Amino acid sequence: MATVELENVSKVYADGTPAVNNISLTIGDHEFIVLVGPSGCGKTTTLRMIAGLEAISSGQLKINGRVVNDVAPKDRDIAMVFQNYALYPHMSVYKNMAFSLEMRRRELGLTRAMIDQRVREVAKSLGLADVLARKPKALSGGQRQRVALGRAIVRNPQAFLFDEPLSNLDAKLRVETRAEIKRLHMNLRTTTIYVTHDQEEAMTMGDRIVVMKDGIIQQCDHPLRVYQQPANRFVAGFVGMPPMNFITGTVGGDGEFRFASQVVCLPPELATTARSAQVSRAVLGIRPELISPKAEGRFGGAGNIIKGVVLTIEPLGDRVDIRFKAGEGLSMICRTETHRAVGISTGDTVEFHVALAQCHLFEDLPMGENLLHKCGRRETVAGSAAV
Ligand code: ATP
Repeated sequence: MATVELENVSKVYADGTPAVNNISLTIGDHEFIVLVGPSGCGKTTTLRMIAGLEAISSGQLKINGRVVNDVAPKDRDIAMVFQNYALYPHMSVYKNMAFSLEMRRRELGLTRAMIDQRVREVAKSLGLADVLARKPKALSGGQRQRVALGRAIVRNPQAFLFDEPLSNLDAKLRVETRAEIKRLHMNLRTTTIYVTHDQEEAMTMGDRIVVMKDGIIQQCDHPLRVYQQPANRFVAGFVGMPPMNFITGTVGGDGEFRFASQVVCLPPELATTARSAQVSRAVLGIRPELISPKAEGRFGGAGNIIKGVVLTIEPLGDRVDIRFKAGEGLSMICRTETHRAVGISTGDTVEFHVALAQCHLFEDLPMGENLLHKCGRRETVAGSAAV
């Protein structure tokens, strides 16, 4: 088991591309940490530097307190599972799983019988006991992915690194395999660093998630805290589906927030923060589930209504997504219980109630800015332990 520490780590590729910019991160023993962010944000580069497959341009990488910048990948005792499985096609499942142990049998002091026992144990735990004699081409995608997992697990490494391991699986199998990986982690407790661009995968799997953009860590925290207390507008927009609504407007001294010829009253905390930050223009961030029609009293307070013309209604079973136009060029989305949408049709003008007390206020900076400063928030995460 291992702790992994990155101290001011940067990576600039030989062609001058800056991929990772001065990141510092401590991953605790037994922890399951997920690196998430849009394509090109530096997730894979970070993982490959930890694995030793990519040289670090500056900064220090420590595993269990030892600086490993110049330690070869094979000497880091880390197992990596890739998106494309990388199984040996000419070898059986058994041989694929046993291969790395066979190669280092003497070095590790293992007998053939010990390797056999280990492979069969792991194969059983992954539901692969009946396919050990098959070649990879005779397996389903899910089985292949489990062989790749098994091959990593038999080594009993200090840490697992996963690089988008579920990308090749269909939606149902992805959900099943992600539960499988979580179950494995709960049993093995091996320190795990997992890369994905899928925020749902990140939210459901990680003890902590690290949201990256342009090679910079935007926020590193418990998934619920990232959702409820996003560090900046980028994180707020990246985490959550459907994404957070953003409304640009002006904040009055009395806490009135004016936009597109509408006005809502900010809760005192947000109004105070805006005042102390001396911002007059700001961006109000509202999660879709904090908006609902026919929700009088439920979301409290006066001045919490946004009027909109319904554009689309998308039933999801127990809930419904309603897209509406709240002003010129301002399309918003609300997610609410199905019964609240009864009687509402496309083209109707509807009063939507907003739980403003749980909304966020951001400075009105371009979305491309790296670290947009959030100037207000409320809500604390019940039960989210400091990690
Ligand atoms: P994705 O989700 O698309 O895999 P990522 O977040 O994992 O993206 P990286 O693969 O780490 O991102 O890439 C980070 C940046 O480094 C990108 O701009 C990418 O184009 C660049 N990059 C990656 N590998 C190289 C390389 N070998 N040479 C030059 N630039 C590279």
